[in-house]
Amino acid sequence: MRPSLTILSYHNVDHTWAFPSGPGRAPAGFRAQLDWLARFTNVVALEPALAALADGRPLPPRALAITFDDGYRDNLEIAAPELRLRAMPATFFLVPGLIDRAVTPWWERLAWGIRAARATAISLDGTDWPLVTAADRASTAREVTRLLKASDRQTREARIDEIVAALDAGHEPDFGALYVDWDGARRLGDMGFELGSHSSWHAILGNETPEAQLADLTSSRQRLEAELDRPIRTLAYPNGTVHDYSAATVTAAIEAGFTHACTTRIGRNTGATPPFELRRFVVVPERGASPLRWSTALGQRAVRVARRRFGRLGPRTRPSGGEST
Ligand SMILES: [Zn+2]
Repeated sequence: MRPSLTILSYHNVDHTWAFPSGPGRAPAGFRAQLDWLARFTNVVALEPALAALADGRPLPPRALAITFDDGYRDNLEIAAPELRLRAMPATFFLVPGLIDRAVTPWWERLAWGIRAARATAISLDGTDWPLVTAADRASTAREVTRLLKASDRQTREARIDEIVAALDAGHEPDFGALYVDWDGARRLGDMGFELGSHSSWHAILGNETPEAQLADLTSSRQRLEAELDRPIRTLAYPNGTVHDYSAATVTAAIEAGFTHACTTRIGRNTGATPPFELRRFVVVPERGASPLRWSTALGQRAVRVARRRFGRLGPRTRPSGGEST
């Protein structure tokens, strides 16, 4: 069988405004997932595994790489120690603008604003979105997030200011504190983990002009290399679905000097997978690793692929893939 590599995509591993969960549930689920991976897969470092795939060299059976997008502080405080305990390599895709506190993570700000809103509805593009019940707030958050993801970065930032003002949610918390600072990013590198880029400002690259994409990816790589004193070769596209990057994005990534880029399109990777369209499974930590929950964490279609690969996953369950940012 030709060598292949499964890549998992994590984000936060503890609760946040955008990804709420009960106290301790996400870290406990994450630990259970790592234990499952230790038992049923061979966790490998991403960059050497990608080099092996490119060269047609063998990989261990059920080879799997673990990645994290966004640089949440809980990656350093919770995920990294758990990974080290199990001698598991991982790759952290970082956003210089979040590390610098130069951009606000709009998805966290929006989720906080909707949760804390004193307004009973907000009006957007001629539609009123209710905020009365918890179910209203959840569906409004989901729909407004979807609308905002369709904008370019500047439009989205202007709109989020208007939306948060209309929500009347009170004093804003320090969203930057959710993410590692440069010292934290260096500590991840010093612990032996691979570091990569997740763009400069977490723009959804495919919504930007080709020039803006090239500027974003070039400055992201240069900034990370200068601050972290190491080569940065790998990239993960923000949001990462097939709608979130384009041919211009791939061209910009190549010109910016990256060797590979990860999407959140599901599937496993072989030597035939385009190196700038690597497939990943988005995983939700709080769902844990019991077969049923692990299936749910990966989503139904992902489970069909994973079942072919691992053969040990549990019964089918409702489709419910992880949300990506
Ligand atoms: Zn992201």
